[in-house]
Amino acid sequence: MTKKRSFEYNLMEIRKNNSFTEEYEIDCMDFRDSTSPLTKLKSATVYVNFHIDGNDVILSGKFSINATTICSRCGKEIDISMIENFEEVYSGEETVDIKDVISEAITLAEPIRVLCKDLSCNKVKI
Ligand SMILES: [Zn+2]
Repeated sequence: MTKKRSFEYNLMEIRKNNSFTEEYEIDCMDFRDSTSPLTKLKSATVYVNFHIDGNDVILSGKFSINATTICSRCGKEIDISMIENFEEVYSGEETVDIKDVISEAITLAEPIRVLCKDLSCNKVKI
């Protein structure tokens, strides 16, 4: 499956058609700077929906990401998944590039502190 590399949308066209919906995989390398170096994206699916509200075009999106990160306590690599919604409102624009919107949402979704499920790691040290 080809991954999406361009995130430009023609809002004129979307206004004409009243709405636009799309779902795709993104190339994780394009978003490697969206998280801290500890978290590495493995696969990511993005869903976007544009709809018209008066003079505004509303973008509602959602992503689902599989990633690896480092256990905050023992340093072991662990798998995590991040699912997050994002929204943006456009007023006068003719075209928009939503890469930054996706990137910021990924940054916000990255967990700050993750613990692995190892018994030895969950045990409270005395
Ligand atoms: Zn651990």
